[in-house]
Amino acid sequence: MKVVKFGGTSLADAEQIRKVCKIITADPERRLIVVSAPGKRFKDDIKVTDLLIKCAEKRLEGGSAEEEADAVVARYGEIAEELGLSGGIVEEIAADLCRRLSADRSNRHKFMDFIKAAGEDNCAKLVARYLKKEGVNAVYVNPREAGMLLSGEYGNARVLPEAYEKLKELRHRRELMIFPGFFGYTPEGEVMTFPRGGSDITGSILAAAVDADVYENFTDVDYVFSADPRIVENPKPITVLTYREMRELSYAGFNVLHEDTTEPVYRKGIPINIRNTNRPDAPGTMIVPERNAQNGPVVGIACDKGFCYVFISKYMMNREIGFGRRVLQIFEEEHISYEHTPSGIDNISVIVKEKQFGRDVEERVVRRIKESLQVDDVYVERNRALIMLAGEGMMRTVGIAYRATGAFARAGINIEMINQGSSEVSMMFGVLEEDAENAVRALYREFFGNEW
Ligand code: ASP
Repeated sequence: MKVVKFGGTSLADAEQIRKVCKIITADPERRLIVVSAPGKRFKDDIKVTDLLIKCAEKRLEGGSAEEEADAVVARYGEIAEELGLSGGIVEEIAADLCRRLSADRSNRHKFMDFIKAAGEDNCAKLVARYLKKEGVNAVYVNPREAGMLLSGEYGNARVLPEAYEKLKELRHRRELMIFPGFFGYTPEGEVMTFPRGGSDITGSILAAAVDADVYENFTDVDYVFSADPRIVENPKPITVLTYREMRELSYAGFNVLHEDTTEPVYRKGIPINIRNTNRPDAPGTMIVPERNAQNGPVVGIACDKGFCYVFISKYMMNREIGFGRRVLQIFEEEHISYEHTPSGIDNISVIVKEKQFGRDVEERVVRRIKESLQVDDVYVERNRALIMLAGEGMMRTVGIAYRATGAFARAGINIEMINQGSSEVSMMFGVLEEDAENAVRALYREFFGNEW
């Protein structure tokens, strides 16, 4: 049995939905289908989820949100008409939205999640209806009845362990199941959504629950590429990637799958296959537990901007027991998650994401470090990028750092920090943001230049 998820661009209009239905019916193993809400049809288009957020915001400000709601209904209306769907599906969607918009607004987060969930829910109903019209024995599956039980964290929900017990029964249903992504219910019956892009998570949970042979994730790219095609021209496609490599690359800016996606399938060792709805014959990228690291030590190069270093120095720091803990405790108390802590004998840097380190937070943290740790110096450097080199083959290969630093030197790029995790499947370099693209290109030339 395959669990198959289609992203927003695969459901953006009637033509895309026809392609989706062709893909589904081409393989009888594809039995549990997860859909996103209709996404962008062209570059500056607005996703249905974003239209819904606007609706909710308007209502929360006290407006009627009529115009915004009409825009949502119009998107579905256009699709339904082009697919030749009659039987009142558009009226049902309009009534559903109207019911949601008149719900209680005293808790704004609760209201927002309830509205956001309408995108996937109605899309699943529409796709099921279309498949039925085409003669397929398809059904819409209600996540509440199916047991998609989530924690009570609005917009950031997590699956509850007990959900799996009920969800696994889906394996025995004979119909083709169309399951809306992105949301579920608390045990008390309240709608909760995952973080944005969270339909990937729904698919992963379902694949784990029914013990799928593979989790197919259809999007709008043929493969995961070894570097960002906006930075490197025509980068090498990755055909096989391990979960660990995927994690390292996603951490540093590869955004093929939502970050929380891999965990449920990873725990069960179920492979993920990233594929393209517009080119269903391309085999895509397989994400697997283990791979044969034959084709070169490095599989991908990623880069992410928006980091800052909090640099702390104190003479004889190495002799002071508990210094590191006390530094990190300040970050913990300020609710700042840190990324890395490279250190020397008398200094330590704490690397954090700039978006959680505004000027007011910076001022507080610096003051607290100065006061409670009696340091010689503490200052913050902003606009830093992290460049990540990842590959299972790096573990057994001598000279990776030598080659990487040589490539940086030839490109005239100063490395401010090097971090090799103890797993040895990745190596990370801290550079100035303005050097980030050149750094990726330099590493790409070094590790992929000749073979591609
Ligand atoms: N529709 C939601 C979003 O735009 C979830 C998803 O597409 O996965 O974030």
